[in-house]
Amino acid sequence: MIDKNNVARIHRNVTCPFCSLLCDDLVVKNKTGQLKVLSNGCSIAKSQFEQTQLPVKPGINGKEVTLDDAINHVINIFRKSRQPLIAGLGTDVAGMRAVMELADKTGAIVDHMYSDGAMRNIKVMQDHGWMMTTMAEIKNRADLIIFAGTDGITNYPRFYERVIWNKNSLFNIDIKQREIVYIGDHLNTSAGKNPSGRLPTSINCKQEQISEIVATLHAMIVGNKIQEQHVAGVKLQVLEKLAERMKQARYGVIVWAPGELNHPHAELTIQAICQTIKYLNRTTRFSGFSLAGNDGGITAGNVSAWLSGYPLRVSFAKGYPEYDPYKYTIRNVLNKKEVDTLIWISSFTATVRPPKANIPTVVLATPATKLHFRPEVIIPVGTPGVDHGGQLFRTDSVIALPLKQVRTTKYLNVAEILNRVVKSL
Ligand code: SF4
Repeated sequence: MIDKNNVARIHRNVTCPFCSLLCDDLVVKNKTGQLKVLSNGCSIAKSQFEQTQLPVKPGINGKEVTLDDAINHVINIFRKSRQPLIAGLGTDVAGMRAVMELADKTGAIVDHMYSDGAMRNIKVMQDHGWMMTTMAEIKNRADLIIFAGTDGITNYPRFYERVIWNKNSLFNIDIKQREIVYIGDHLNTSAGKNPSGRLPTSINCKQEQISEIVATLHAMIVGNKIQEQHVAGVKLQVLEKLAERMKQARYGVIVWAPGELNHPHAELTIQAICQTIKYLNRTTRFSGFSLAGNDGGITAGNVSAWLSGYPLRVSFAKGYPEYDPYKYTIRNVLNKKEVDTLIWISSFTATVRPPKANIPTVVLATPATKLHFRPEVIIPVGTPGVDHGGQLFRTDSVIALPLKQVRTTKYLNVAEILNRVVKSL
């Protein structure tokens, strides 16, 4: 729609690609290329959409070059490489499909910048299975929501607005009856206050003690007697009360953010949560919900899974996809010098810092990115959902949201660049 003065274009129902909630209700004005979020954007969305698009040229070893020269240089690097690593993977579905094609053609290892968190989830899903829910189900059904090790708002600013204190729901549930519980430390619990002023319950313990708390809750729910009076510094009565409330819930949800459970063997915390949820489903409905996958993390995992059969940390070096969540990590293969080329992709946020490696490095990044080293090749790329259309998967992985182009750009997108490289190899 063109505004009265015929100088600005208003885009409605814009999907925001800057966290994995993918809010799809933003209104964004484009006035001669400068964007303004008019409504529904959080502070992250505003700062990202409203950044001025910088005029950045491709470069080879610090010297400005044409885009064709930069792409030809990348092709030459790949021709000489015996073991490339394609990492970062901050891109959309089309970009990730191109990554997989390039990996298949060049025998590359593929890993996302946030795989450490994702793998905590995947290990649990692969070993034990889990029962998960969606944003729509929380919004329409949940009466008890327990946040374990995350406050759900620091990294996902509109989570409460969209699914917890939502104004409308399919079954007209009374959201004022919704109960919020936090388990962990250093959590911002202010968003857990309901619209009538009812405060959430907070159970304070260190992040690495959450599994102890959850295992105790599980034991109580099963019917075991606990001899201790305190668990992880928390009074037993507090946990008894919560265990009883969990049994009485009509639709309970435990929310965690695998990237925020950043302690050794955090997958065991997620495992304890998932086992408790499974047990509760003998008598009521209870589900898990994972907040994760910013910078295209969920998308990268899904595209890798449907094209290779594995959820990232995949190597194509043997001519077929080989999965190893310990061996094929960005950190491991760079530290052990198992790769001779790095191509780093980050088309959403400018603050992502690629690793510095003493091997030929190609960076495809959003133009505002400030690098702390000089890569052999740098090519600025457009951002999905801002500079070009596309699709991204949401944190609950059940839906791929369409992304709109809301401004014109001179930058190619990741898929366009990688497809040119693939065709020339
Ligand atoms: S919560 Fe996330 S998806 Fe929603 S507007 Fe903010 S950054 Fe964008």
